[in-house]
Amino acid sequence: MKTYDVVIVGGGVVGSAAAYYLKKNGFTGTIAIVEKDTTWQFGCTGRSAGGLRQQFSTPENIALSLFGLKLVRNLKQEFGPEADVGFKEQGYLILASDSGMPILEENHAVQMANGADNVLLYGDDLSQRFPWLVADGLAGGCFGLAGEGWMDPYSMMGLMRKAAIAQGVQLIQGEVTGVSRDGNRITGVTLADGEKISCGTIVNAAGTGAGALAALAGIELPVGPRKRYVYVFDCPAATEALHKGPLTVQPNGVWFRPEGRNFICGVSPEEHDEPTVFDWEVDYSIFEEQLWPVLAERVPLFEAIKVISSWTGHYDYNALDQNGIIGAHPEVGNLIFANGFSGHGFQQGPAAGNAVSELIMHGAYRTIDLNRFGYERIALKEPLFEKNVI
Ligand SMILES: Cc1cc2nc3c(=O)[nH]c(=O)nc-3n(C[C@H](O)[C@H](O)[C@H](O)COP(=O)(O)OP(=O)(O)OC[C@H]3O[C@@H](n4cnc5c(N)ncnc54)[C@H](O)[C@@H]3O)c2cc1C
Repeated sequence: MKTYDVVIVGGGVVGSAAAYYLKKNGFTGTIAIVEKDTTWQFGCTGRSAGGLRQQFSTPENIALSLFGLKLVRNLKQEFGPEADVGFKEQGYLILASDSGMPILEENHAVQMANGADNVLLYGDDLSQRFPWLVADGLAGGCFGLAGEGWMDPYSMMGLMRKAAIAQGVQLIQGEVTGVSRDGNRITGVTLADGEKISCGTIVNAAGTGAGALAALAGIELPVGPRKRYVYVFDCPAATEALHKGPLTVQPNGVWFRPEGRNFICGVSPEEHDEPTVFDWEVDYSIFEEQLWPVLAERVPLFEAIKVISSWTGHYDYNALDQNGIIGAHPEVGNLIFANGFSGHGFQQGPAAGNAVSELIMHGAYRTIDLNRFGYERIALKEPLFEKNVI
């Protein structure tokens, strides 16, 4: 039977980062990533919009994002001169109506106290800075002056995974269908083809499959898929200023951003409208009925647009509070979670991976104190809400 000191289930951005930072931080034990889809086309990471922002309400989320930013800024030192993730540092612009403005101001204060570089804009400031935007009905917005934008998530994940493999991490293709537990220890996993692998520590980095994986060990984890659509559209009349503009979020959650010479957009549904079938079909009525009217009202240049493609992805959704769950299980101490990032896990992947490496190597956090993100709040059903979930 194969034996590894650390078995990481899931080789998306989080699992790849855990392996990468274990090696980078000097872990000398053996490590395997077990991944069922080695094309990486169905995981969250490859289907993410690749955004990175500091516009959160929770200090931990800001710190996790800043860690990812530092990695992007040092990409070539970290991975070599060819490394490129196409970071477009064009900012986020989160807009607010009168009722939302006090929350935006409160969040802005938390962000500035935690190292973000954002500015609040009111009324006419908005249309002066963004001439393509109609500010009617808005009290203001918060704009990322630096450190926010988007990149190619597939490339970022691949850089960490390949660097980890180059340093001896084993990539095993297979689906974990069984988890063996001896009292308060996980002893190993069983793959769909019957192969058994024993482990010292297991890391749950299974994305949307995290809840199902935990259940194999008899542990409840409220993380599962939530279907999301991203629409790519062409806007022939778009100005250069609009192409250079930020990822813009309307008070009702509708968002858009430039993507090459096109744009992408989406919205997270209300709880009662959440799709219940987790296939890959796209619902175009959402674009027609919920997105286009809102986009065209806010940006008149978007009155003449055409959807040219689209995709479906599934959020790794934490149903308790939409924040990451990071840390060891309080009783089953060799099971480490890095799950439930609910739409902001791409940018948090590197920091989450580093945090996992610190827990495995030192039994405590050294870089970012993520104790509040631990499983304990899940067990107690005491949510730690993030107000800025997009
Ligand atoms: C449409 C969309 C847009 C998004 N936009 C953003 C954004 O702009 N910014 C941002 O920060 N985040 C965004 N996200 C969220 C982000 O993509 C995820 O939070 C993040 O990628 C999670 O990474 P992960 O490694 O945990 O999961 P994944 O990338 O899904 O990796 C988990 C892996 O585990 C494997 N796996 C699962 N179960 C098993 C098993 N039993 N055995 C073996 N392998 C298994 C899967 O095949 C998968 O490859 C978005 C997500 C979606 C869907």
